[in-house]
Amino acid sequence: MFDKLLIANRGEIAVRIIRACQAAGLKTVAVHSLADAVQLHVRLADESVCIGPAPAAQSYLNQAEILLAALSTGAGAVHPGYGFLSENAQFADAVEAAGLVFVGPRGDTIRRMGDKIAAKAAMREAGVPCVPGSQGELSPDLERVQAQAQEIGYPVIIKAAAGGGGRGMRVVHGPDELPAALRLTREEAARAFGSAAVYMEKFLIHPRHVEIQVLADGQGRAVWLGERDCSMQRRHQKVLEESPAPGIERSAIAAIGERCARACVQMNYRGAGTFEFLFENGQFYFIEMNTRVQVEHPVTEAVTGIDIVAQQLRIAQGQPLALRQQDITPQGHAIECRINAEHPWTFRPSPGTVAQWQAPQGAGIRVDTHLVDGAEVPPWYDSLVAKVIAHGDTRAQAIARMQQALQAMRLQGIDHGAPLLQAVLADAGFQQGGTDIHYLEKSLDRLQSTGARHAD
Ligand code: ADP
Repeated sequence: MFDKLLIANRGEIAVRIIRACQAAGLKTVAVHSLADAVQLHVRLADESVCIGPAPAAQSYLNQAEILLAALSTGAGAVHPGYGFLSENAQFADAVEAAGLVFVGPRGDTIRRMGDKIAAKAAMREAGVPCVPGSQGELSPDLERVQAQAQEIGYPVIIKAAAGGGGRGMRVVHGPDELPAALRLTREEAARAFGSAAVYMEKFLIHPRHVEIQVLADGQGRAVWLGERDCSMQRRHQKVLEESPAPGIERSAIAAIGERCARACVQMNYRGAGTFEFLFENGQFYFIEMNTRVQVEHPVTEAVTGIDIVAQQLRIAQGQPLALRQQDITPQGHAIECRINAEHPWTFRPSPGTVAQWQAPQGAGIRVDTHLVDGAEVPPWYDSLVAKVIAHGDTRAQAIARMQQALQAMRLQGIDHGAPLLQAVLADAGFQQGGTDIHYLEKSLDRLQSTGARHAD
């Protein structure tokens, strides 16, 4: 048990976690870099500790400083949020070795899921369907790999076992391209991730990205909290997420959700987690598991009424999961729009001072943000500055509420992505629902011209 928690993060997620701690009666310790001394998360926490200079490598990724901050303030637990150290097995181990609770799975679980070959093997064992491909690391024998590729069928994708963040992947359209693709991906993987191990999958042409949220207590209980459709992406970065996933049979979602929950029990998984799938032709194919809270978790909170961060805290306190699967009944439809500090069409980052910030309000609207009037958006970190979540009885109502909310939002002094999001919301393809992961990139020029017309 602990009564004080350190948040090893910044921005909107640090604020979100602090609020959940306050509601649970827990004291909070914020950490911050020199560039973040007056950010909202520092002001809201009971205590704060400066952990280093602006660059993340010297502050939010500085494990020794963060541990020292936790120990010196008497915090009994560390919540890593998302990004930064949230999926760093070594950090999770170090936190627990220091006698503190890591809000997340055990280090060995994070390590296993961080190795994509090991993660896929674990999923196959648990009966979770995976993208057809090599059963493990590719052999150095080119002829064998050629034969495997023929068997899987082109196009295939070569992926680094230790890859992440959309890097370390290469699509191969035919046998001629294979030798160079293997060599380059291995070289890149060794350089970027410290391991040259690569594997091969069938490359799906028009998949959607659909993911399952789970909660597990590490004591034999696990539930799944419905799905999120995150197909609206640019450069593998999610732009807008929604739940439920339009047009997918509830029975198909339930079948995959139950497998995910069962896999959690089998792995003795502890905490919140997300199973990511590609969905094509009515089939789900596991691609990876995220062993942390995700940016888009509020979409699930809106439809299920379950506070995922509060559940993380309960699990970290060693409490058994009180939720029962039959009690989880999603209501209505929710959409999240990510507001990034960047130009809506060139995507150029736009750090600076926020001249004016007014969050939208209204029925079914939630805003998660660290913005205030006069806030600095430093150039050093992720550009996400706010998330607007709209919930409605129907998808059409959620879209209408979101449109109204973005219209009412005032964010001046920096560029931001609301015009792009408005163009997406007004787009006939999006409104119909069920677009694939390539839809946004293919539609950008068209969306920009309609976006510009709206602005006139
Ligand atoms: P990362 O950990 O780097 O995010 P993922 O394995 O989750 O890597 O893949 C990132 C993205 O790459 C997916 O969301 C999808 O857009 C694309 N992708 C990955 N594997 C495949 C595949 N087999 N077929 C088609 N697209 C894929």
